[in-house]
Amino acid sequence: MNKKVIHKSGKCIYCGNEKRFSREHYLPECLGKFKGFETLDDRICKECNGHCGRQLEDQFCRAGDIGFLRYGLGIEGKKGSEKVNPFERGSSGSSPLKMKGKPSEQDGEIQLQLVKGSRDGRRVGVDYISQVILHTESGEIHHVLLTKMTEAEELRAKIEELNIGKLKQVNLITPEADRERAEKITAIFPELAEAKWENLPMSGETFTRTEFEVTDKYFRAIAKIGFHYVLKHFPHFRGDEEMFAGIRNFIFNGGPIQDYVTWSNKQIIEQIKNGYCPTTFGHVILARANEHLVWCRLQFFLGPDTVPLVFKVVIAQNKPTLLYDITSGHHFSYYEEVKDGFRGIMDTLNWIHKAPTN
Ligand SMILES: [Zn+2]
Repeated sequence: MNKKVIHKSGKCIYCGNEKRFSREHYLPECLGKFKGFETLDDRICKECNGHCGRQLEDQFCRAGDIGFLRYGLGIEGKKGSEKVNPFERGSSGSSPLKMKGKPSEQDGEIQLQLVKGSRDGRRVGVDYISQVILHTESGEIHHVLLTKMTEAEELRAKIEELNIGKLKQVNLITPEADRERAEKITAIFPELAEAKWENLPMSGETFTRTEFEVTDKYFRAIAKIGFHYVLKHFPHFRGDEEMFAGIRNFIFNGGPIQDYVTWSNKQIIEQIKNGYCPTTFGHVILARANEHLVWCRLQFFLGPDTVPLVFKVVIAQNKPTLLYDITSGHHFSYYEEVKDGFRGIMDTLNWIHKAPTN
């Protein structure tokens, strides 16, 4: 079926040029398609959308807590575009997610990874990640991941790069499915071939913690979501007004994060404070504009036993000359599985009368 799409033209709020607008997914497509969601179609040109959207969103979706939960829940964006394992590869300048746990006493903490889409209610599947554990004579322990390596030479180069002292012992950890590849790479340690395999526990429960680091792109992506949400839901604003010059520049070029994006445990939804938790995962966005401030609060992947930080984006301040007080809130909740092509549904937030006032 052919669908005719009419593109509107006009002045882009970022570059100011008269151009054909592109469809901006203010809630990134990588979070899935929500029934009832509409793109922002008449403010941003294709080039600026590419620059301030996809570049920032790549990191937002694959690194940090968002990348972690998205992967664990198996949320995918456009069909078939998801090949990246965030435990193996960083994104746009961020490092890969590092999940650590202690399934056996002998090796201390080892690196683990989530099994994609394995979240089942309160439990989530975890697997080993192929790695060597190097014990030096001076008692240091180094972990080297074998992900992405294909040759023994790559491992040798990596160890040289680490510049560690004489090795006392080397342990190899690998899931059975990856064993052949891992043994080929670790052929530089002949003693490993002689060593005996021990089976690490394949079931049971373990405490894990995950480390991640993100760059300013992550926060600029959040600022972009907040700003474009406001433009979509408050038709009073066009986005090119002078009072938005700061947020536009932060999104487009970067700048001091704390001037625009802060985070806290101050909940958007009153019920969360009282111990209530939604039964499905979802995102909450709430925006408000009054005579003092235009702001947006965002919480991603609020769900069963999961109460993430709340981000606050200051979109305009210093008394923007407004005569009104307006609020808009939405909840994007995931279905158990894809339904009619949608991953979830967008609803208006019904709790906005209890929204925080600043
Ligand atoms: Zn533009």
